[in-house]
Amino acid sequence: MDKGICWLEGRIQPLSEARISVMDHGLLYGDGVFEGVRFYHDTPFMLEEHLQRLLDSARAIGLDCPWPQQTLVDIVAQVVAAFSDTEGYLRILLTRGKGALGIDPRSCSRPQLIVIADRLQMIAPEVRQQGADLIIAATRRLPVDGLDPRIKSLNYLNHIMARMEANHAGAHEAILLNAQGKVTEGTADNLFLVKNGTLQTPPVTDGALAGITRQLILDLADRENLPWREHSLAPYDLYTADECFLTGTGAELIPAGSIDGRPLTQCPGPVFRKLAAGFRKHIDTVCRSRT
Ligand code: PMP
Repeated sequence: MDKGICWLEGRIQPLSEARISVMDHGLLYGDGVFEGVRFYHDTPFMLEEHLQRLLDSARAIGLDCPWPQQTLVDIVAQVVAAFSDTEGYLRILLTRGKGALGIDPRSCSRPQLIVIADRLQMIAPEVRQQGADLIIAATRRLPVDGLDPRIKSLNYLNHIMARMEANHAGAHEAILLNAQGKVTEGTADNLFLVKNGTLQTPPVTDGALAGITRQLILDLADRENLPWREHSLAPYDLYTADECFLTGTGAELIPAGSIDGRPLTQCPGPVFRKLAAGFRKHIDTVCRSRT
């Protein structure tokens, strides 16, 4: 049954009834930005960080958001309260809005805000337990001097093509390299590996999104006194890692079982387990304390 709801034009409606214009430049050109936010215990998780990234992304593409941050918080609260479950996933979209057929953004007079709440199952529960099979995709991530990875824009086409490669190979997720052959991230998640007890992740400057979960994991690593390094990684580093895992709002934390058919030594490994326990505890502490 369709449980999804949507805030659109000041009104909460079932997803099945929500309509936007076919002339929206978000649809015609991917001209817009977005966020994915989870809520637990009826409380959006790390909402302030997500809204800050949304507003920064909007500013970076020259899109004025007519809704102040506090109004966005209020709209999100309305949507969470109206959703039938205490847990779910929000998608906040801000597009350039309805315009003419041509690409010129000046034809768009008013941005469009859409806030969707629904369930999200990114990956089967047994895969979360046993580990996801990853491949390194032939499709490369957009270069950082083409589209700054800090902008969370609606342009996900090469991520989709990378995911199609994973589907075709019978794997669960694809890793995108940058034009120089360095590891960046998954199609909708950041990537970590563990080698000899040290946590490692590619720098944002190599082409990864500045993930909010990624930052939380680095903060948790500090709290647990786990050594970590942010540095460029090659496929070799993935193939020879002890552990590897993915992080993201939708993904939460997913251990990798193999990469291009090469099994990881430990899955889920001790570092993953420690961080996953800390992550869960953090969610419970932060979200329960606000209810
Ligand atoms: N990389 C990409 C390409 C993503 O779409 C996402 C999901 N937002 C992430 C990484 C993870 O970021 P976050 O932890 O902020 O959700």
